[in-house]
Amino acid sequence: MSFLSVDIGGRPGLDCRGFCSYCYFRGVSEVAPLGCRHCPPFSSGCDYCTRSVREFYGEGFIPLRDVADTVLARLQGLNDEVSRITISGGGDPSCYPDFRDLVDLLASMEAPLHIGYTSGKGFDDPKIADFLIDSGLSEVSFTVFASDPGLRKRFMHDPTPDASLKVLDRLCEAIDVYAAAVVVPGINDGKVLEDTCAWLDNRGAQGLILMRFANQQNQGLILGNAPVMPGVVPHTIDEFKTLVTSLNVQYDLKVSGTPLWDPTTRSPFAILQEPDLLAKLPRLSRKASVVTGSVAAPYLAAVLDALGGTATVVPVDKEIACLITLDDLSGTDPSGLEDLVVIPGRAFVHDTEAARVLSRDGHPRTLMRGPDTLTADAETSMGMTRDAVLSMEMEGISTLVQLINRFGS
Ligand code: SF4
Repeated sequence: MSFLSVDIGGRPGLDCRGFCSYCYFRGVSEVAPLGCRHCPPFSSGCDYCTRSVREFYGEGFIPLRDVADTVLARLQGLNDEVSRITISGGGDPSCYPDFRDLVDLLASMEAPLHIGYTSGKGFDDPKIADFLIDSGLSEVSFTVFASDPGLRKRFMHDPTPDASLKVLDRLCEAIDVYAAAVVVPGINDGKVLEDTCAWLDNRGAQGLILMRFANQQNQGLILGNAPVMPGVVPHTIDEFKTLVTSLNVQYDLKVSGTPLWDPTTRSPFAILQEPDLLAKLPRLSRKASVVTGSVAAPYLAAVLDALGGTATVVPVDKEIACLITLDDLSGTDPSGLEDLVVIPGRAFVHDTEAARVLSRDGHPRTLMRGPDTLTADAETSMGMTRDAVLSMEMEGISTLVQLINRFGS
């Protein structure tokens, strides 16, 4: 069984009928390369941390002919049947100029079709929903923002919000729909959000992923684009968690949140409620400092304590661990750090620069990257069972402990 991912290119905001007011790609500036795990050892800045992180696809959408050629080449390289096809890109698939032809082409492969992400802003005719269903679309992640068409028009700049919502309505009836909404306080929270949940619930959506709006650098804006909406104060992490919990209880559809939390799987770090599984993990035998984001820090500290406590968690002033940059490490006092410092696998820092900053008190330290993921955020866990989340956490945490036991002091 093979999964086929079909990249249609495109630029966020520019190839989705204009920027949504809350879009994190709005105002992205030409920041110096951040550095990352893909960079070569002696220079900071590679294609991933200069272009991909901004989802920068210079030429806009990839023409259908080129997409078709790539698909054909990929198919020739596969040994078995395609079991799922996912359309993805930097731009919005609903705005792809040859969208119907693209879907026709992919439908001919007779495998279930997924749309990884769409805002639906490009759907002007409700009939496209039946065309997609007849073409084998089985799952879509669809940004609803609000079920109020006026709000979609005003904040998403959707020129035909009624048509987009009709498409969403029909898809909810027939296929697996995971709706999504960035929650902007004062705009689509409160009663608007409750109405949106009820609207999705009545139509049979599988779930709603709420994304806490971020407006400051320490909340996760790393591309020189803060604030995205001047004057808007995002929910605190605790307020957001409470909001997700209460909506998930109120409605039948699964409501989860990112950066936290998923009340159904109880992630992140669902393993903290599973003492039997914690007991199966390897014990810590050496010392290390483990740098992470402020959201994950208390959870990870509890896990490492339960495994022997020889490793200390060091939170930085960045809420999301995967978005830690060199500036965040510079704000950490190195004097209390152990000889081995482990940073998140996906942190946006160059290893050599990070080691220099974390050794600036004159005590040389070894820097290593931990696993890419230790737990599942809501975007990852939405379609997962609790067992699958637990197994992912067991794997990530075991890898971290093994790294510390091998290279720690
Ligand atoms: S649809 Fe998504 S990528 Fe496009 S402007 Fe809106 S938030 Fe940004």
